[in-house]
Amino acid sequence: SASSGDKTHVLFNLQLGEKLYYEQQLIEDMRIAIEMAQFELYFQPQMSLSSEKIIGAEVLIRWQRNGQWISPSEFIPLAERAGLIDKLGDWILYTACQKAKNLVSLGWNDLVIAVNISPLQFGRKDFLSKVTKVLKDTGLKAKNLELEVTEGVIIYNENEAIETLAQLKKLGVHLAIDDFGTGYSSLSYLRKFNIDKLKIDQSFIQDIEHQAADQSIVRTIIELGRNLELKVIAEGVEGPEQLELLASMGCDEIQGFYFSHPLPEQDFIDFVKHQRSP
Ligand code: C2E
Ligand code: CA
Ligand code: CA
Ligand code: CA
Repeated sequence: SASSGDKTHVLFNLQLGEKLYYEQQLIEDMRIAIEMAQFELYFQPQMSLSSEKIIGAEVLIRWQRNGQWISPSEFIPLAERAGLIDKLGDWILYTACQKAKNLVSLGWNDLVIAVNISPLQFGRKDFLSKVTKVLKDTGLKAKNLELEVTEGVIIYNENEAIETLAQLKKLGVHLAIDDFGTGYSSLSYLRKFNIDKLKIDQSFIQDIEHQAADQSIVRTIIELGRNLELKVIAEGVEGPEQLELLASMGCDEIQGFYFSHPLPEQDFIDFVKHQRSP
């Protein structure tokens, strides 16, 4: 009837209203958290499959809001929509490079620290000069920094993306394509861009030991990487069966809970020390 339809409508609006209110609060708290630098950066180890030694880490942001952890997959898209990603992205890049410099100074000269870059952040005219300045200010060498971008940055503005990626390469920064296999773009960009690494999306790894289709896709990506002389890393590796499979396929690097969860800075330092001690 009309009345029950109205009820549904009211209920829907209420829920929508609550969601908007919740998001608005989150945005306000994020604004404050950015001002007060209340975020933390965690490090998830990346391992070479051939040596089983640590080669670097991905930096992942963490935020505890009123004693509760909020997932970055929730607040990063919100920061992008609310116009907060530039400030937050600047803080992430600077702080990550500062901490990376600290790690390198502990004697780990070959460590590569990977930082996630939002497509919006990457698309800014001053992104290249920002990276240059951050490296200069922190004293981190470009070869110790990797930027993880999704195919989104390429779709966004292809010609400018090509130019920025070429300049970053010139600086000596490593470039990885994140969530590889989930984007919508054609593969032709791989010819034009000077990329170092493909990061196989974890959705292909999750159930790889049971899914023949996932095995085919992953095998194909690894072969593609080999032919184009790109390193291939698999993320979301949780168990020994997945590891065995990926090793047999010739995957170069591994990241996932199997080796380690993302760790606070000091725990990561301990992890590397333990890993690298003879
Ligand atoms: P992502 O870049 O694809 O990051 C990988 C995510 O997978 C991380 O989630 C990580 O904790 C998780 N992960 C790692 N190993 C495993 C595993 O073995 N199993 C499972 N199930 N998950 C695993 P997290 O930290 O919650 O981040 C989610 C997303 O938020 C990231 O996806 C990235 O898109 C975004 N994000 C996180 N930190 C940053 C940042 O500093 N800057 C930007 N722009 N985005 C970030
Ligand atoms: Ca990433
Ligand atoms: Ca990813
Ligand atoms: Ca992702």
